[in-house]
Amino acid sequence: MSYCDDFIISDAQKELIARVHRADTLGEFIFDVHGHTNDGWSLASVFDGTSEGLHWEMEQLGVSGLAVSAICSISGVDFEWANNALMADIQKQGNKIHAYVGIDIMHGKTLVADVENYLNNGFKGGKIYTRWGIPYNDPAYYDVFELLNARKLPCLAHCWGEPNVSNLAKAAVMFPDINFIAAHTGSADLDVYLDKAARHDNFYIDTAISGGPRGLIEKVVSRIGSEKLCFGSDAALFSMAQQVSRVIAARISDDDRRNILGLNAKNLFY
Ligand SMILES: [Zn+2]
Repeated sequence: MSYCDDFIISDAQKELIARVHRADTLGEFIFDVHGHTNDGWSLASVFDGTSEGLHWEMEQLGVSGLAVSAICSISGVDFEWANNALMADIQKQGNKIHAYVGIDIMHGKTLVADVENYLNNGFKGGKIYTRWGIPYNDPAYYDVFELLNARKLPCLAHCWGEPNVSNLAKAAVMFPDINFIAAHTGSADLDVYLDKAARHDNFYIDTAISGGPRGLIEKVVSRIGSEKLCFGSDAALFSMAQQVSRVIAARISDDDRRNILGLNAKNLFY
C-alpha cells in the first residue's frame, strides 16, 4: 500500500485546494523562511525580486511573513550594496519582510562590525552560503555566529546534502542559541537532513526545492514529525505559489500542515 491509498482529504485541505483553484488568498497563517531580493540584478528570474514584487506575491497568496536575504550579498557580488538595499527595503512603510544579513565570509576585516551594524538596524538573522566552499563549522564563522547566538537569532544556510548539513549541525552544537535552518530538504542526502533535525533542538530544515518530488513532505513528517520542517520557497528565484502548493497538496494532517506553513517559523521569528 502506498502512502496515499488510505489518505482522506480533510475539509480544511479541500478548502485550501479550492482557494488555490480560485487564485484566492489561502486563509492560513503562512510564514516563508527562505526568500531573496535580487536588487534588480539579473538572475534570469521570471519573478519580480524587488521588495515590492515579493510583497505583491505575499498579498496574492495571503502570506503573513517572509524572511529574505539579498542575493547579491551572499554571492560575492557586493556585500555592502546588497545588504544596504535590503536595509532600505525593510525600513519602508508597510514592510512585512524580515531580513537576514547576507554573510559573505570573504568580505574581509569589517565583516563582524558590518554584520553587527545590520543586526542593530532591523535585521532578524543571518544567511550563509557555500559560495567560497568554506565549511559552516570553520572558525571563520565563529565571530558572526557569536553575534547571532547572543541575540538568539536564526541562521538560514544554503545546503545541498552532505557535507553542508553535517557541518552545519556541528555549528548548531557549538552555538545552541542560534536556530539553524538547513535549506533545500530533498536536494540530496535526505537521511542526513532528517537525522540532524531530529537530533538537535536548534536545527530546522526547509522545503525549498525547485522540483516537486512526490511524497517528499509526507516522508519527512512520517519520519521525524512536522515540528522541524519550515515552509521556504526560495522566492523570487522560485515561484512562491508553486512552492506553497507543494505543502498544501501534501497528504499530511491539518496540524502537521499548519506547523510547516507557519507555526514552526513563529518559534524562530516572533
Ligand atoms: Zn535561496
